[in-house]
Amino acid sequence: MTQRPFNFSAGPAALPEEVLRQVAAEMLDWQGSGMSVMEMSHRGREFISIAEAAERDLRELLQVPANFRILVMQGGGLAENAIVPLNLSRGGKVDVVVSGSWSKKSAEEARRYADVQIAADGAMSSYTALPGDWRLRKDAAYVHICSNETIDGTEFHTLPDLKAMGSEAPLVADVSSHQLSRAIDWSKLGLAFGGAQKNIGPAGVTLVYVREDLLGHALPACPSAFDYKIVADAQSMFNTPPTFAIYVAGLVFQWLKKFSYAGKTGLAAIEQRNIDKAALFYGALDGSGLFENRVAADCRSRMNIPFYLRGEYNTERLNDAFLAGARERGLLQLKGHKSVGGMRASIYNAMPLEGVQALVTYLKDFETSHG
Ligand code: PMP
Repeated sequence: MTQRPFNFSAGPAALPEEVLRQVAAEMLDWQGSGMSVMEMSHRGREFISIAEAAERDLRELLQVPANFRILVMQGGGLAENAIVPLNLSRGGKVDVVVSGSWSKKSAEEARRYADVQIAADGAMSSYTALPGDWRLRKDAAYVHICSNETIDGTEFHTLPDLKAMGSEAPLVADVSSHQLSRAIDWSKLGLAFGGAQKNIGPAGVTLVYVREDLLGHALPACPSAFDYKIVADAQSMFNTPPTFAIYVAGLVFQWLKKFSYAGKTGLAAIEQRNIDKAALFYGALDGSGLFENRVAADCRSRMNIPFYLRGEYNTERLNDAFLAGARERGLLQLKGHKSVGGMRASIYNAMPLEGVQALVTYLKDFETSHG
């Protein structure tokens, strides 16, 4: 079997090869049903069994407590920026911590439905550090954070304890770009949401994990298909769900349950490999005279690592040469987000250690020939 290229896309992102092969094998006839999963009724027994197994496996992997519902929705992270305030704000106050591009977008969208206050903003550090000194309002309906900023490359390694900050408000986290890469401390959270297209499966599925007491407070203007209570009561089948994407996500969950690394299995194993991959790559950047990562050491993302050529080397010509050379070696989609430039390596669950090793080798070779 030939080695596929290593794909560092920020999303939609690489999927485990084993999963892609199984999808291909089952494409025309899913387990003797005579149908592709794409062709099945979402209310038929075959698809119901696929959807139920997927939710069961996800709940088990992430240890989602019984008082949280998992909703399978559509619209992605950006739609949730509206759907969350429509369901949780009650038209009142929402505090948002701006730690980068995605939380900034969340604040802007929530303003259409609620009285939004920026509780803290990392602009002073150009979003290379998480902002401190949060100003939280006692009567806020919820506090929003983005726990992994995909563009800026910051991550909360522990979730904030709002109670310890004197707030009773539920914490809402946009976990789009690191869900399922690490364990989650549910005791700190009221709701988490994220699109699937990074660590979980194809674009088109959005997962919402919501504490039950937060259901049932949607504003009257909230579309029925986006009312968490209606979606929960219908077992995420109020309207036709993205069936094929749910099926692929279910295969990813099965892959992850069996995954082993460093004497661990499942989520603990993938988390350990994610820690090791990130340490390897940050170590190479910090030890390089040519490349740099600018994020503070205590909040560097394990998933999305923006990096730049240093100082005078940071020219368009040299960036382009780096990216072209990477493609030649089968290291794909390393271009940085257009808003920040440079390069970015997204090293989600499906990226093997060998992919990061190949990238590190390339960095060293490029430094030797251009530094
Ligand atoms: N939040 C974060 C943290 C993201 O990384 C993204 C997508 N890159 C979004 C929200 C937007 O997600 P979508 O495109 O699925 O709406």
